[in-house]
Amino acid sequence: MSRNVIIVGSGPAGLTAAVYAARAELAPLMIEGELSSTGDQPGGQLMLTTDVENFPGFPDGVMGPELMMRMRQQAERFGTELLTEKATKIDLSSRPFRVWVRDDVYEAKALIVSTGARSIMLGLEAERRLLGHGLSTCATCDGFFFRGQQIAVVGGGDSAMEEAIFLTRFAEKVTVIHRRDSLRASKIMQERAFANPKIEFVWDTVVEDLVGTDRLEGAVLKNLKTGETSTLAVTGMFVAIGHRPNTDLFTGVLDMDENGYLITAAGSTATNVDGVFACGDVQDHEYRQAITAAGSGCMAAIDAERWLAHGDETETNTSTNW
Ligand code: NAP
Repeated sequence: MSRNVIIVGSGPAGLTAAVYAARAELAPLMIEGELSSTGDQPGGQLMLTTDVENFPGFPDGVMGPELMMRMRQQAERFGTELLTEKATKIDLSSRPFRVWVRDDVYEAKALIVSTGARSIMLGLEAERRLLGHGLSTCATCDGFFFRGQQIAVVGGGDSAMEEAIFLTRFAEKVTVIHRRDSLRASKIMQERAFANPKIEFVWDTVVEDLVGTDRLEGAVLKNLKTGETSTLAVTGMFVAIGHRPNTDLFTGVLDMDENGYLITAAGSTATNVDGVFACGDVQDHEYRQAITAAGSGCMAAIDAERWLAHGDETETNTSTNW
């Protein structure tokens, strides 16, 4: 059986695409992924956060997992079929497109890719325990919770500088921990960070462990040049050592930039393969917010519906009641 549309990935982008596609009576199948020790996370990155206070419509905030559960219920309510497994292979060389889940094959006329991205983590045992409890990967999302506190940022790239500078709005002091003695960040970001009196740098240093059971209390640091270890008392830490889009499945098939993010046409979610659309963090390394991911998921569903209605024509369908 060939379906209208398969959505791969179940974060805010995929689930919003599902709500819109289901309401357009496309009966989407969502392959939502499955929890794995390698970091796969149905529901996406919000499943790893606690309070979300910037998603419109929740004036008192909402827990990340609860927000995702609500989006999932909404997608199901309109007839999205959910498969809690991981897509293992795809064939986009002919239509219908084929998506494998182990030995089972699912076919669809259109495909929406919303497999997201993941923050690169330090690889410490304690990270899983403390993520969302003082440890974060997004200053825009969580900076507000650290008003008046001592915070650390790990990394020496533009992301780390951007996060550190942003966090000085809230924090008493921000300590940037970098593994070398010079930054990778652009000159202008470096200058801004160096000029900020609230930012201090700890060079040639890595984080060896985190202190705290239920909440972060500190970080164990090791100076790579002297071998000396010390403990830095911080109640917040932001890991900003880069992101990786979840695009392994599409290597050599869908166009990607040099960092592996899917490339979509300007003002659209269309990829280089006709009938394949991409939305959310898998194609956005700039904004990375739940609300922007949701917005692009809505775009992908509308693009897919119009494409299904008109094939290759670019004419838009204004009759659909979304
Ligand atoms: P990035 O440029 O790859 O920098 C990652 C940083 O993390 C590097 O300083 C790296 O150290 C460090 N790092 C990597 N793995 C580590 C580990 N295991 N332990 C400790 N440190 C580690 O990543 P990014 O900062 O996220 O930036 C990604 C891209 O987006 C870049 O092209 C950047 O210019 C762009 N960006 C631009 C802006 C802006 O212009 N406003 C803002 C954000 C990002 P080393 O330096 O030693 O390798």
